[in-house]
Amino acid sequence: MNDTDMKLVVVGAAGRMGQTLIRIIQETPGAKLHAAVERAGSTFIGKDAGEIAGAGFIGVPVTDDPLQAFLHAEGVIDFTSPAGTVEFAGLAAQARIVHVVGTTGCSEEDNAKIEAAGRHARVVKSGNMSLGVNLLSVLAEQAARALPVSNWDIEVLEMHHKHKVDAPSGTALLLGEAAAKGRGIDLKSQSVRTRDGHTGARPQGAIGFATLRGGSVVGEHSVILAGEGELVTLSHSALDRSIFARGAVAAALWARDKKPGFYSMLDVLGLNA
Ligand code: NAP
Repeated sequence: MNDTDMKLVVVGAAGRMGQTLIRIIQETPGAKLHAAVERAGSTFIGKDAGEIAGAGFIGVPVTDDPLQAFLHAEGVIDFTSPAGTVEFAGLAAQARIVHVVGTTGCSEEDNAKIEAAGRHARVVKSGNMSLGVNLLSVLAEQAARALPVSNWDIEVLEMHHKHKVDAPSGTALLLGEAAAKGRGIDLKSQSVRTRDGHTGARPQGAIGFATLRGGSVVGEHSVILAGEGELVTLSHSALDRSIFARGAVAAALWARDKKPGFYSMLDVLGLNA
């Protein structure tokens, strides 16, 4: 560790992703854990962030004061909840630092507030921070552009662990957006998010979603392009949460010298054509 390392705050430090982020920051050259935040009343307040994450003692006690934690930091990595992320976006904008957002399930109103924070902060937000899924989204966009809508239907299938609270996953929506972009359509008006009962035949051009939940699955996604007599399946399996944490830390380091703005992982990975 040296003085030029980027000083990062992990919010939601005791969560599944928070703990993974603390371990990954410890092993990433150029990054260091400056503070770790949990909500007021959490049983983790005052405990050492490294010990919570299974990385050994690192001398950073978990705090419930994000304002103080952000004051001398250069970036915050946020995999929490939509309400938490909206609050942290305001504080990161005030502090004019980097805000990497992995939180999913945000409403349009939440997203508008997080994007607006990009006037002062450098915000990187993505429903999936892994290289593989972002590459998959580029492939899904290309496939959707190449295969005619008259003969090819697009469905996005995902499975996650039983604790996940939002559906479809942020990644499924990211992949649906990529396919919609390839087809030149608006996902919101053309998606079928659930099916139950007598649904009638599939509307041509719709992008369908199917959600499975169970066990400890980190994240399985497939974009299925179904034609007459043939299927093309593009898929990604997340075997370990560290892929998201590594992507998020890389995003923070990338954004360190960027102008205030709202960026995606495609920008970070240089995949934005
Ligand atoms: P988790 O285990 O429930 O962790 C969330 C943590 O954030 C918890 O410690 C929670 O504390 C804390 N938190 C929530 N709201 C807060 C607030 N307002 N102030 C302070 N702390 C707050 O969930 P997870 O599995 O780590 O996932 C977190 C989020 O990341 C989800 O939205 C998930 O979908 C998303 N995710 C994104 C990616 C990606 O690549 N973009 C990858 C994986 C997960 P409490 O327990 O007290 O609520």
